[in-house]
Amino acid sequence: MYLKNDIISESFARYLEGLQHLIFPNVCLQCSYELSRFEKHICGFCWDKLQRTYFESYEVASGMDQLFWGRIELSETFALYFFEKEKPIQDILHALKYQFKAPLGRHFGEVMGKTILNSDKYKEIEALIPVPIHPQKRFLRGYNQSELLAEGIAEILKIPILMDVVQKKNNNSSQTRKNRFLRWDNASEQFSIGKKAMTYRHVAIVDDVITTGSTLEAMAQLLRSQYPDLQISLLSFAIAK
Ligand SMILES: [Zn+2]
Repeated sequence: MYLKNDIISESFARYLEGLQHLIFPNVCLQCSYELSRFEKHICGFCWDKLQRTYFESYEVASGMDQLFWGRIELSETFALYFFEKEKPIQDILHALKYQFKAPLGRHFGEVMGKTILNSDKYKEIEALIPVPIHPQKRFLRGYNQSELLAEGIAEILKIPILMDVVQKKNNNSSQTRKNRFLRWDNASEQFSIGKKAMTYRHVAIVDDVITTGSTLEAMAQLLRSQYPDLQISLLSFAIAK
């Protein structure tokens, strides 16, 4: 039941939103065209240009499932879009990571949540673990983009986000200069398990974009070593084609 004050503050918020739209028209992140009142961050036209995976309705193994075959046993995987360089998705991911667009990250998370909400495959997921970044990096950037996505997903699926189960070890900036083989080795040393024990049986790791999958593999392996019976799923905003 709504209280009277809630109704007033809600309609006032809507009034402010309309006023703000008149003074500062929102523009599409991708094409810079003005957004309608019903569009958020990206216009309908640009949304349509992104390439959906439709992994949520796959009845056979998807390319994302196959990426982890022989590496780590996962329960379910999901990515909303395919990632390709020089395509709109690259700008969107860049904005999400570097342009301080926290509401955008949460909005994308909500879209992910709504997409998997009605699929039977993801019903068993009990909690979300965003891929952590080092606290120093988080402080400098102001947020962790995977955490924002997790916030949006959690809102829709009504499940908790676990922040201290896995931690990022150190800020290893030299990693990007190493080759792929060396990076895999390094990835397994990237994370540590938090001190407080976790009791969930099925968790989903949340990431913004998956390319080789080595970071996620390392993180999942670490979780499995600590919790041998844990079911692990992966939810990502995008995956490289
Ligand atoms: Zn647009």
